[in-house]
Amino acid sequence: MDLDVSLHIAGRWRSGGGGETLAILNPATGEAIGRVAVATRSDLDEALDAAERGFAAWRRVSAFDRSKVLRRAAALMRERAEAIARVMTLEQGKPLAEARIEAGVAADIIEWFAEEGRRAYGRVIPARAEGVLQIVTREPVGPVAAFTPWNFPINQAVRKVSAALCSGCSVILKGPEDTPASCAELVRAFLDAGVPGDALALVYGDPAAISGTLIPHPVIRKITFTGSTAVGKQLAALAGQHMKRATMELGGHAPAIVFDDADVEKAVQVLAANKYRNAGQVCVAPTRFLVQAQVYDRFVDGFVAASQALKVGDGLDPDTQMGPLVHGRRVEAMEALVADAVAQGARLLTGGSRIGNRGHFFEPTVFADVPLGARIMNEEPFGPIAAIRRFSEDDEALQEANRLPFGLAAYAYTRSAARANRVGAAVEAGMVSINHHGIALPETPFGGVKDSGYGSEGGSEAIEAYLTTKFVTQASA
Ligand code: NAD
Repeated sequence: MDLDVSLHIAGRWRSGGGGETLAILNPATGEAIGRVAVATRSDLDEALDAAERGFAAWRRVSAFDRSKVLRRAAALMRERAEAIARVMTLEQGKPLAEARIEAGVAADIIEWFAEEGRRAYGRVIPARAEGVLQIVTREPVGPVAAFTPWNFPINQAVRKVSAALCSGCSVILKGPEDTPASCAELVRAFLDAGVPGDALALVYGDPAAISGTLIPHPVIRKITFTGSTAVGKQLAALAGQHMKRATMELGGHAPAIVFDDADVEKAVQVLAANKYRNAGQVCVAPTRFLVQAQVYDRFVDGFVAASQALKVGDGLDPDTQMGPLVHGRRVEAMEALVADAVAQGARLLTGGSRIGNRGHFFEPTVFADVPLGARIMNEEPFGPIAAIRRFSEDDEALQEANRLPFGLAAYAYTRSAARANRVGAAVEAGMVSINHHGIALPETPFGGVKDSGYGSEGGSEAIEAYLTTKFVTQASA
């Protein structure tokens, strides 16, 4: 396949003004499978002008009609899901079955926002004096700069773009340079459905140069970023300097607490599936497995068996359950985390090495008895490594769950309602899922606390970020 990914600026799909392109690589083979255009400074200026025009026009389209356009985009995503999924697997590596789900779920997300945008209600506040009318209206915040990563090339972008568009905002999306083609297909679906060309731009290039241009620019009124905590803090600081509203979906280090009264087999099955989904490159992946002493050996044995049973390979192979990591840097990061854990005395029970010398494959890896000082217990692995630790008293597990500066997702398994309630209340996280993996639905809030960022990208909370509140009070003349 020869992917040729263009920019979309001011209603036209086109190459970058400087003619520069970047290679797109297949992570399963390391081979080049296409090129993506690079935006220059003047391309960005053109996108900014278009975003201003696009906002002026799109905000005047009624919420009812915007909703119809978004529904058409959802239908197009469903129609095209199979072809888009193949492209995603080729450039990102995830198994085709996961890519299909991502393309299909995009349609569900667009539909949710198509509906929610029609309910951006204001209110009337009873006045103190006769003849006074006090109204509160919700207005679109303005042109949005959105930055999305490679782990879910469509899912990360569709949440931001749908929420912005349903609210009446225009968007400049900087998509992921590692996986640009599937993200571009999402943008194409919105445009083919009738989103005006000026209201949705897609750019690629040097991430720091693009964010450094867009965030301070007066046309941009709202920033939304998904990626690492380190980059998120830089972008949030820049947004703060220019008094721009920001949503930050950043890194996590999810604790998974397995109590001694848990359904251990179910915990193993659900947690292992979610550990290795997308080769562990998921911000809500379970990472610190805290297991109570009485069920520790059973859980560890089960988890190792589940890890060893996984079929790792090219995502296009229908038997593959886990694909490669997205690029070579992630393989090096896994090797460094493994070497450090071994040096610190953690027990390596399975995996620990890259697989072969073609593509970026890494073994499903399980450590037991991991000391708290090991890097894997403190840094987001963003890869297929599970770190398991034993605890005795419930308080120990809750304390460990809250030890890190991250607070995105947390998981627990227990048959006790009291324990479940306690975990739900005590764990510092934006999302807590107990006895199942139930997060990231379009209709439920999605976001973190502490160093994991702020704002929500799901549920009715998600469009709040794209709306401002205006109060108008009027007395009879
Ligand atoms: P990275 O930090 O270089 O890139 C992560 C993402 O941020 C990429 O999409 C990149 O284009 C973007 N980015 C980087 N610098 C930027 C800047 N100055 N302005 C705007 N965008 C910028 O790291 P990487 O090697 O690609 O990924 C490694 C780490 O990124 C992982 O360990 C993980 O913590 C984090 N990450 C998180 C998510 C998430 O869903 N929260 C997704 C992908 C990566």
